[in-house]
Amino acid sequence: MGPMTHADAALVLFSGGQDSTVCLAWALARYARVETVGFDYGQRHAVELQARQAVRARLAAEFPQWAGRLGPDHMLEIRGFGAIGGTAMTEERAFEISEKGLPNSYVPGRNLVFLTYAAALADRRGIPALVGGMCETDYSGYPDCRREAIDAMERALNLGMAQDFRIETPLMRLTKAETWALAKQLGGEALVALVVEDSHTCYRGERGELHAWGHGCGTCPACELRAKGWDEWAAGGRPELAA
Ligand code: ZN
Repeated sequence: MGPMTHADAALVLFSGGQDSTVCLAWALARYARVETVGFDYGQRHAVELQARQAVRARLAAEFPQWAGRLGPDHMLEIRGFGAIGGTAMTEERAFEISEKGLPNSYVPGRNLVFLTYAAALADRRGIPALVGGMCETDYSGYPDCRREAIDAMERALNLGMAQDFRIETPLMRLTKAETWALAKQLGGEALVALVVEDSHTCYRGERGELHAWGHGCGTCPACELRAKGWDEWAAGGRPELAA
């Protein structure tokens, strides 16, 4: 790597959802410089893209210890890939369960594509660490979220780009309740409030009513998962994640 390398820098795959918002805070707590990358793959809902900017702005405004670390945001257009999925993420279709038992929101290999684009960007930016919210627990229907797949991708990217990237997945072994606990550990109730109010997870793109766990329709799989995790965390007394 050349002289532009920032050894203490990370690039966060950032969708504006709950998981990637917590990942962004996790990276800001660890790295001197943190940049974000998002993907326009033809999502139905611009609300997801607006949530990204709201989260970034509030992190910078309310967490002075992180504001100076938060670098630029990059938005990459990959609509050609999104068109291949043709599932609930990109077309008006019911949230059926596919024959493989996967939610119909699944776009095959989406995380592999995200990581490839992110790694190419990180190479050009001299950033050695990629951070993503992939998670094996709770929602294990996505095969490209498994750490085994991430490890294989890390090896392929490093071989193919002659690099030494690390792909960090801080949520990999956490339940959704534990992700709320991690948010509290990282930024206290102020960060929990930010995640609740500004991050967006709902597949239907509804903001609507503010529930205890955040905005959303309350009935799509993403809302159900987010609400269930919140309820478990609240029932446990809203702890910080055990060290
Ligand atoms: Zn929803």
